[in-house]
Amino acid sequence: MAKWDISRIDEWKGDEFPLGACIPESGNSRDYVTGGWRSERPVRDDAKCTQCLICWIMCPDSAVVAAGEKVVDFKLDHCKGCGVCANECPADAITMVPEGCELPEVK
Ligand code: SF4
Ligand code: SF4
Repeated sequence: MAKWDISRIDEWKGDEFPLGACIPESGNSRDYVTGGWRSERPVRDDAKCTQCLICWIMCPDSAVVAAGEKVVDFKLDHCKGCGVCANECPADAITMVPEGCELPEVK
């Protein structure tokens, strides 16, 4: 696979940037921690969850972790806190909680 020479990228003028120069290689999203700008995190209530897997299907960042056909966790390194999973959950089992706050007690 051809690679771009970006060794002088700091010196490039505006018209020297090739299209998409910000991502020099494809398939690298898992190498970057993109959850850093999240302001809210999803918290799943296991008692309410029916394991329908809709959140796993709908998450735009593949940040819902499923194992054995069950949702088990969120990949917070990649979850951007968009709230799609909470919005789409038919059982209202996911709550978006502000970062930096104590997590709610799940009964
Ligand atoms: S908040 Fe958004 S990115 Fe995070 S797990 Fe839910 S749908 Fe995925
Ligand atoms: S969408 Fe809601 S009920 Fe369905 S698996 Fe996810 S958390 Fe559980």
